[in-house]
Amino acid sequence: MTDQVDVTIIGGGPVGLFAAFYAGLRNMSVRIIDSLPELGGQLTALYPEKYVYDMPGFPKILAKDLAREMAQQGTQFSPQVVLGDTAESLSEDMVISTRSGLHMPTKTVIISAGAGAFSPTKIGLADEESWIGRGLHYGVRHLADFAGRRVAVIGGGDSAFDWALALSEVASNVCIVHRRDGFRAHEDTVAKVKALPVGFHLFKTVAAIQGDEQISAIELEDTQTKERSTIECDTVIVNIGFKSSLGPLKEWGLTIEKNQIVVDHLYQTNRPGVFAVGDVCTFDGKLKLIATGVGEAATAVCVAKTLIEPEARLFPGHSSDMDLPA
Ligand SMILES: Cc1cc2nc3c(=O)[nH]c(=O)nc-3n(C[C@H](O)[C@H](O)[C@H](O)COP(=O)(O)OP(=O)(O)OC[C@H]3O[C@@H](n4cnc5c(N)ncnc54)[C@H](O)[C@@H]3O)c2cc1C
Repeated sequence: MTDQVDVTIIGGGPVGLFAAFYAGLRNMSVRIIDSLPELGGQLTALYPEKYVYDMPGFPKILAKDLAREMAQQGTQFSPQVVLGDTAESLSEDMVISTRSGLHMPTKTVIISAGAGAFSPTKIGLADEESWIGRGLHYGVRHLADFAGRRVAVIGGGDSAFDWALALSEVASNVCIVHRRDGFRAHEDTVAKVKALPVGFHLFKTVAAIQGDEQISAIELEDTQTKERSTIECDTVIVNIGFKSSLGPLKEWGLTIEKNQIVVDHLYQTNRPGVFAVGDVCTFDGKLKLIATGVGEAATAVCVAKTLIEPEARLFPGHSSDMDLPA
């Protein structure tokens, strides 16, 4: 059993990080739990190398840079950060139990769990797992890792095309493998990729991965003729989507609609002391954006503060009037 904190934030994505910052600003003790090994949520896990254009104050910022700044801001009041562990249950007396067996008492909870825990959609090969670490990836963390590589990107959506575009600057060779000839990616990105020396293998799926220590080729199957062909590559990046699920949060007795937690205008759920903000919550007029999610987080924190300390004011004051650490 760990110490009781004022607020436990479930999910260290951009919205949870801002909630942690705001709770620190309000002198609350904070614990963040995230099932991923890194803070940043979707920014870090799904699109670290994409530019974000709708952050106040940043005309253009890479998602990974935004995640880093938000993590720095979110941890400046030294919250407890528990990574690589999943919040599984919340007892009547407000103790959160995690997958690893920790029991964490809390006065309030802010759920900022996004779409829930992520897992990438797999190609479906029997030996697929064995190629992880030998050239098979489900995303790109650091572009530099792919310098000089011969890369096959699987998929036809935004992520696949964004990676193909970015990788073409560092990889020695890039091709796209897609099961149709239509793409879900933005037309603009598709046009940019088509203007590059990127190979296209259309109406193809991956039938097998070949190699020894490292991938050396992939065998493709034509979706129409079923003919097989082989292309040489040492890296395969699969971008055919992510599965996400609220998972254990569904058992918390919260009102859930279409996989999202229903909240009122103060971001309170139907359970006393439990709030939901960011992508995970729903209400009339909900926008799944970082800019709106951080506002929800600030409100939820201030309402939680007044629950814990009824004499506290809801309005936090202006940060510009506060003496904060640099
Ligand atoms: C390709 C793409 C591009 C985007 N571009 C933009 C953009 O330009 N501008 C914009 O505003 N938005 C954009 N978005 C949306 C934006 O990323 C989301 O709105 C934002 O990430 C939501 O933040 P969040 O903190 O609510 O959730 P998330 O970022 O999803 O973070 C939730 C975190 O909760 C953790 N978690 C879930 N369940 C548990 C559990 N039970 N225990 C512990 N941890 C748990 C997850 O591991 C995750 O880290 C984009 C999204 C995508 C996919």
